[in-house]
Amino acid sequence: MEFELDVEQEAWLEEVRAFLREHVTPELRRELAEHDLEFPDGEVAAFRRKLGERGWFGLNWPTEYGGLGLGPIHQHLLVSEFEYWGVPAPDLTVTSVAPMIMRHGTERNKAEFLPPIARGEMVCAVGYSEPGAGTDLAALRTRAVLEGDAETGEWVINGAKIWNSGAQRSTHEWLCVRTDPDAPRHRGISVIIVPIDAPGVTVRPLIAWSGYRTNEVFFDDVRVPAGNLIGEVNQGWRYITGALDLERGALTNSGDLRRAVDDLLTLVREPREDGRVPAEDPEVRHRLAGLDADVEAARLMGYEAASLLEEGVIPSIEVSVEKIFTSELRQRIATVALDLLGPAGLLAHRSPGAPGEGRFERLYRSAPLLRFGAGTNEVLRDVIAQRGHRMPSYGR
Ligand SMILES: Cc1cc2nc3c(=O)[nH]c(=O)nc-3n(C[C@H](O)[C@H](O)[C@H](O)COP(=O)(O)OP(=O)(O)OC[C@H]3O[C@@H](n4cnc5c(N)ncnc54)[C@H](O)[C@@H]3O)c2cc1C
Repeated sequence: MEFELDVEQEAWLEEVRAFLREHVTPELRRELAEHDLEFPDGEVAAFRRKLGERGWFGLNWPTEYGGLGLGPIHQHLLVSEFEYWGVPAPDLTVTSVAPMIMRHGTERNKAEFLPPIARGEMVCAVGYSEPGAGTDLAALRTRAVLEGDAETGEWVINGAKIWNSGAQRSTHEWLCVRTDPDAPRHRGISVIIVPIDAPGVTVRPLIAWSGYRTNEVFFDDVRVPAGNLIGEVNQGWRYITGALDLERGALTNSGDLRRAVDDLLTLVREPREDGRVPAEDPEVRHRLAGLDADVEAARLMGYEAASLLEEGVIPSIEVSVEKIFTSELRQRIATVALDLLGPAGLLAHRSPGAPGEGRFERLYRSAPLLRFGAGTNEVLRDVIAQRGHRMPSYGR
C-alpha cells in the first residue's frame, strides 16, 4: 500500500505552505489571539478575502459551480496545514453545507448560494440542535410553514436553536426545521437557508468552559422566500446526515494535534523552575513517543477518509472512528502536557509566565468540545457497532 503523497500533491502542499509563509503575519496572529476566531473587519477578514481571491474556498468543487476542480485530498491537505499554522481554514459552509447543495439542491439553490460561498462571502451557522433535540435530533420542533405557493410564497419560521456556533459571525443559517408535524419524525424535516439579519432572528451568546462562544438563536415569525428551501420538502434528514458525515471528517483533521505535540516536544526540552529537564526523563520520552505515534495514525486516518471522498464515497464509519480517535487523542495530549508542565502548566491561557502562553491549559478546557460536537462519541460508538459491524441496536 502506498502512503506517500504523489508529486502533484506534494507541489500543492508546498503552494499552500508558501501562501501561509507570506500571509500569516504577526498582525494576523495577534488579532487571532485577541479575538479567538471572531471575524471582525481586519486582518482575519483580509486573510479570508485572499483565500476567496485564490478560489480556495471552493477548491474541491467542480468548475461548473465556480470551484477549482481539485479533489478532497487537496482540500484535506490545505485544512491540515492551516490547522498546523493555527489560522482559520475554509469552514463547514464550504466542507459540508456546499457539497449537500451540489448533491441535493435545486438549480435555483445552486445558482443563488454556491457562488457567494465560493467567494467566502456567504458563511452559514449550522442550526440543528435544540434544547430538547441534541443526540435525538429528529425530536426537533422549530417549525416552518409555507404561505403561498412553492415558487412565489414564503416560509414562516418559529422556534429556537441552541449551541449554534458561529452565528455571531455568519451571514446565514443552514436551518433544520419541521415542515410536516404529522409525518413520521424523520420524514417531516427540511433544510432552509435563513439570512441571519432577517427580521425576527435573535442571536444570544453562550460561552463554553474554554471561552469558546456559541449561541442560542431564536426565530420569531421569520419570513424567507420559498426558494430558500434546499432540495425537496420533507427530505431534510438525508441532507443533514450527509452533511454531518462530512462535518465529522472536516472536524477531525490531525493538523492541530501535530502542532500540539511539536510544541510540547519543544517545551519539555526547556528546564523547569527546579532545573529539571522533562525530556531527560525516560518515562516522559515514552509518553511523548506514544502521542507522536498516535498523531501519525490520526494523519493516516485523515488520508483514508479523504481518499474515500475522492472516490465519490461519503465515509460514514471511517469518519466516526477517526472522530472518536482524534477527539480523545486531543484530550490525552492536553492531559499529558499538564502532567509534564507541572504547576506552571495550570496557569491560565495568556497569564504571565504560563509555559507556551498557556496553550495547553486552554487545550485542556477546549478538547472536550470535539468529544460531543458533531455527535457524541458514545453515540458514534453505537454507529460503528450497528452500521459498521451490523450489531443489534439497544432494545432489539
Ligand atoms: C460548544 C458547542 C458547540 C456546538 N456547536 C453546534 C452547532 O454549531 N450546531 C448544532 O446544531 N449543534 C452544536 N452543538 C451541539 C452538539 O452537537 C450537541 O451538544 C450534541 O449533539 C449532544 O447533544 P446534547 O448536548 O443535547 O446532549 P444529549 O443528547 O442530551 O446527550 C447527553 C449525554 O447522553 C449520551 N447519550 C444520548 N443519547 C444516547 C444514546 N442513544 N446512546 C448512548 N448515549 C447517549 C450522550 O452521549 C451524552 O453523553 C454544539 C455543542 C457545544 C457544547
